[in-house]
Amino acid sequence: MSQTSPPKLKALLEATIAACSLDDRRDQDPVGIVHEYKTSADREIAALFASSLAYGRVDLLRPAIRQALAPLGPHPATYLRETKPQALPKLWPDFVYRMTRGEDLVDLATAIAETLRRERSLEALYLPESSENLPIRDRESHLRQASSFVTKLRLRRHRPDLHRGFRYLLPDPADGSACKRLHLFFRWMSRGPDQIDLGLWDGLAPSALIMPLDTHTSRLCRYLGLLERKSVDQKAAVQVAERLAILDASDPLRYDFALCHLGISRRCIHRWCPQRCPECPIEAGCVIADRSA
Ligand code: SF4
Repeated sequence: MSQTSPPKLKALLEATIAACSLDDRRDQDPVGIVHEYKTSADREIAALFASSLAYGRVDLLRPAIRQALAPLGPHPATYLRETKPQALPKLWPDFVYRMTRGEDLVDLATAIAETLRRERSLEALYLPESSENLPIRDRESHLRQASSFVTKLRLRRHRPDLHRGFRYLLPDPADGSACKRLHLFFRWMSRGPDQIDLGLWDGLAPSALIMPLDTHTSRLCRYLGLLERKSVDQKAAVQVAERLAILDASDPLRYDFALCHLGISRRCIHRWCPQRCPECPIEAGCVIADRSA
């Protein structure tokens, strides 16, 4: 655990949020595209597309998300609910973004369309059948529902076989991987609404969220003593969420966006830098800065 006391760490992370230009950073982030949609139903669908494609370089992934969403028009929920399933395979004939092909988007769109016709929303697919004990407040129950959500979506795909590209788009937490993009989607749905997160789901409390951990955020979490595991896997993502919950039990991921954008904005270059580190809001808790002092 961090050498920095929880109150001091909390103060550093609050300062990180205060130092982050949230509106500017949102416009550089995949979630900025989701905010362009006006209704909750459309935002939920756009969010699953955008989060699923939120890998690779930010300057490349945002155009890829726009390209993926363009055929669905300004109202993707209405479009997918009302379009005949046989029309979907024609929507992305030339789409290629790293591991993702147009056929993978067809699988995703087909699964979402089926869900909109049957359950009316992605949240309804995620929630357990019994409405007792809602909202979900603990990480264990959330992971169970998250895995069930992915399993059901995968079963509703277009192609008979479960292709690698579609598995990559929608990873299953039951595999033990960090599932950063899936947990990003849940953060957008559960937290807020605020400048960043959308707050569309009532059935998942922010207290249950898992850190959307990738190589960049995991480094920063290690610098702050929020993470010791070398692997960036589900155990690591849960460990970070548990430690952030010591600082804010009801909303542990309130620090995620600002922390993540320290890396995305290249403000942190992951080594001691005399021009950057003294101005960094978490410098007082960063083990790299400590070592060089
Ligand atoms: S103090 Fe320097 S190395 Fe540490 S997080 Fe900040 S910018 Fe990165």
